[in-house]
Amino acid sequence: MKRALVTGGSGGIGAAICHRLAADGYFVYVHANRNLAKAQALVEAMLADGGQAEALAFDVTDADASRAILETLIADAPIQVLVNNAGIHDDAVFPGMNAAQWHRVLDVSLNGFFNVTQPLTMAMIRSRWGRIINITSIAGLTGNRGQVNYSAAKGALHAATKALSLELASRGVTVNAVAPGIIQTDMIDGVFDAKAIESMVPMKRAGRPEEVANVVSFLASEQASYLTGQIISVNGGMI
Ligand code: NDP
Repeated sequence: MKRALVTGGSGGIGAAICHRLAADGYFVYVHANRNLAKAQALVEAMLADGGQAEALAFDVTDADASRAILETLIADAPIQVLVNNAGIHDDAVFPGMNAAQWHRVLDVSLNGFFNVTQPLTMAMIRSRWGRIINITSIAGLTGNRGQVNYSAAKGALHAATKALSLELASRGVTVNAVAPGIIQTDMIDGVFDAKAIESMVPMKRAGRPEEVANVVSFLASEQASYLTGQIISVNGGMI
């Protein structure tokens, strides 16, 4: 049974991805940072549905803690599906953005990508099969007012996705990004009201976390074996 790790599995999109990968037959590590109880509840639900899963928690900005936990996980076998989904936003128009807002958002999304992916890569390469899927954002493609930090982090992840895909293409490891638009989770509560969503999204609604998970499921599958270095938008037609 292949093993998958979903960072930010305690969040809205991450939970949907965890459920879907468990249904697809992977053993799923449901990762959390502060909300381990949420990840544990999710694991209970996945086990009840006949899936296999385990919860774990660490801060992806803590390089040493991340490496120590991940090295233990892969001591006997590689993790072959990695979904880098943990992310935060901390919005402010640029003249009012402070250094802490800038650094924290990049630290979670971009440095977190390094801290989690790098320790897992060599084992994946040795196994000659792997899937790295980065959850980015439409903001990384178009930019977004009030989100210079978030757009920079997600845009950098797009470039990292492409560069790493070139390094790993001949080793059976694919690297892709999924760039959601507006997805109904806690992250967007209080950010967009229904009227704003209607005017911004051609499909006139927010996406559902499951609609992101469907794409991740495909990218993780055998069917996506010739697909790498791509950024797949899931945004109801916004771009
Ligand atoms: P949530 O806020 O629901 O979940 C965020 C997740 O990230 C949580 O599981 C949280 O863990 C985890 N996390 C935050 N900081 C850290 C950290 N320092 N270390 C480890 N984990 C951390 O967000 P969504 O589910 O909405 O978003 C998931 C991803 O999708 C993010 O990368 C986001 O940028 C992206 N996205 C979301 C969109 C949306 O409209 N919702 C649109 C475009 C992209 P915990 O709660 O346990 O602390």
